[in-house]
Amino acid sequence: MKHPLILKFLTGREEQVNLLRPFHPRDKQLLVELLRCPEEISVPLEELCYIMVLDKSGWQLPTKEGELVEHIETTTGDSFDLRVPAQNYKSGFYAFPIDQKASYRNIFFTLHGIRQRREERPLSDILEEHGWLQENAIDEVLDEQEKLRTRKVGEILAEKSSVPTEKIEELAQQTESVSAGSKVRIGDLLIQAGLISREEVEEALEAQSKGKKKRVGELLIEKGLITEEQLLMALSAKFRMPVVDLQTIIPSPEALDALTHNMVMQLKVLPLSLENRHLTVATSDPTDPTIGDNLRFFTNLSVDFVAAPASEIQEAIEKHYGRSDDGEEQIADLIGELSSAQIDVEEESDDMIDSSVSETDSQIITLVNQVLLDGFRKGASDIHFEPGLGNQPLQIRYRIDGICAVAHQIANGYKRAMISRIKIIAKLDIAERRKPQSGKIIMRSDRRKIEFRVETTPTAGGQEDAVLRILSSSQPLNIGEMGFTESNRQKFTEMLEKPYGIILCVGPTGSGKTTTLHSALSHINTPERKIWTAEDPVEITQPGLRQVQVNPKIGFTFDQALRSFLRADPDVIMIGEMRDPETAKIAIEASLTGHLVFSTLHTNSATETVVRLIEMGLDPYNFANALLGVLAQRLARRLCKQCCKAYQPLPAELEQLQYYYGRSNYEAHGLPKDPKQITLYRAEGCSACNKTGYRGRIAVHELLPATEDIRRAIKENILLEDLRDLALENGMHTLMMDGIGKILAGHTDLEQILRVCM
Ligand SMILES: [Zn+2]
Repeated sequence: MKHPLILKFLTGREEQVNLLRPFHPRDKQLLVELLRCPEEISVPLEELCYIMVLDKSGWQLPTKEGELVEHIETTTGDSFDLRVPAQNYKSGFYAFPIDQKASYRNIFFTLHGIRQRREERPLSDILEEHGWLQENAIDEVLDEQEKLRTRKVGEILAEKSSVPTEKIEELAQQTESVSAGSKVRIGDLLIQAGLISREEVEEALEAQSKGKKKRVGELLIEKGLITEEQLLMALSAKFRMPVVDLQTIIPSPEALDALTHNMVMQLKVLPLSLENRHLTVATSDPTDPTIGDNLRFFTNLSVDFVAAPASEIQEAIEKHYGRSDDGEEQIADLIGELSSAQIDVEEESDDMIDSSVSETDSQIITLVNQVLLDGFRKGASDIHFEPGLGNQPLQIRYRIDGICAVAHQIANGYKRAMISRIKIIAKLDIAERRKPQSGKIIMRSDRRKIEFRVETTPTAGGQEDAVLRILSSSQPLNIGEMGFTESNRQKFTEMLEKPYGIILCVGPTGSGKTTTLHSALSHINTPERKIWTAEDPVEITQPGLRQVQVNPKIGFTFDQALRSFLRADPDVIMIGEMRDPETAKIAIEASLTGHLVFSTLHTNSATETVVRLIEMGLDPYNFANALLGVLAQRLARRLCKQCCKAYQPLPAELEQLQYYYGRSNYEAHGLPKDPKQITLYRAEGCSACNKTGYRGRIAVHELLPATEDIRRAIKENILLEDLRDLALENGMHTLMMDGIGKILAGHTDLEQILRVCM
């Protein structure tokens, strides 16, 4: 007998399966067989959002009077209206369809998969049931709410300012007659007419938007019809949260550690307990599901709520958290600045009723700011926002050390608001959703400036992706910190100290060429030298350098920048990239006329670079005279120092290293041949490295100094193979040799070296 189920995972994935062993809510695992490829697997309950039971054979929907209908929203973005009988399981609850026609028998929801559940009864019914509210008292309040929601700015101005009502009505009629196509506002007209100040209009707009957001509960309290405590009791009944007395609960230290002071202050919550990655939190606002979204996002824990009065939560925060530390303060400053001064937020239009999540929602603003900061602090080079199709969540991936990994998932309901928010702060057109747009975001704190280059791209299903490149995030390293072998470091420093000539740094995108050139520049960056750089984009800034951002879109290209530098009295010039023969030619000429020139190319190896430039049409004689050296570079992932495990290689593994190094060179360079003399390290994974086993990167080099031999060979148009042999004779180590040296030194492993050096 097969029991077909649909499993919905927390990640949003859906899988149709057959249940192989009866399930009970206290089970940690489900034993199932996949429908698409029958195979027995066990699925941990903690990975699931809900289990939908499809088998309806011989089953009658139980009809029970008094069972409440609930609206249930999951963290995966699904929502249901279902009947939920009383039950008491720790892991979740069963819910049943309202009528027999549903395509499923019932659904088991896990607690950690719930975003919000609420009883479909109006709040006033609950208040009346407890005898806290007189029947019909609610109507008056609902009328008032309606009035506040439809109130025009003109009405508020008429109440508050000294302008006669007739005058405002007259102007209001004018606005109505012209506002069909344009955006004339009554406030603007009053200001123009000199009747009112801009501040007064802004106050009125604020009063209007506050009025629109007023909830029934707030109005009931304002009118003295119920107490705050009664409201909280009713809300927690509606939203299925138990009410607790914080004076009798001591939060666990683990729970307090899970949330920062800044976070509890912003969200007005108190964490109470943390068990099995499950955090219980007290809130005074059961109605706001974005609090849970934020907490899940920040902590990557499953979160479940209890309710407590706002005053008790505030008191407990002060008691258990005390004053915040400096680091937190700094982030709070950043966020504060970003959400007020730095960003122009579109004014809400007069007819907007605040029902759904919008990009001006303070939770969305905080969430976007936190993602940007979080990405920056984790050392990401790029942040990818990828909205899923339909009701799939928004996935956020960080590229760290060259590899993309999922960092967060945000519920479906926020997809559009988050992308819109990014577009607003990047000063893009939020109405334009069908064309790609580029812009930038600058976050400032008094210590540093973080710049993000933003690219939005329309994707399938009417969505838009946003990719943010974090600029100015890397600092130039000291030459000594760049991972050079001692011999390469010496040769490279010698080149830098030459008065003129050209130094090239080559490798594919993401191999750290720009960082290396900046380290080189910082080595010679002294007040006696004038240094010009042309970059696209300027990723690293250094005091003392004069840095120029080229912009090919408006015709300001590398070769134009270079020509301009030559008229501007340079000593040293850095050209971000030699994209064309023209730029290469001028760069060579500049280096022959007494300037030190740095540039990069997208070539694979040092020797290949030389041959390629000659093929591009450079004069071999000039080029040979100008060249100081070529540095090819790669970045390999570095083993995490906290968790990597030492081991002695098996003879076969050592064989492999010798093979890739080149057996004769391995011997000639005097490298160890007895496995017992060698200690290698293996990736393990710990919390410091996000369970990957790797943390940070190490540069792998191939440095070809332009010695007399090499110069002569270039002038003679030597073949690539022969040039390589000559370079090796001159003592050059290839990328692979340098990489294997770094394995033997315990910095990385063969897998990572093969990945970047093959
Ligand atoms: Zn580790």
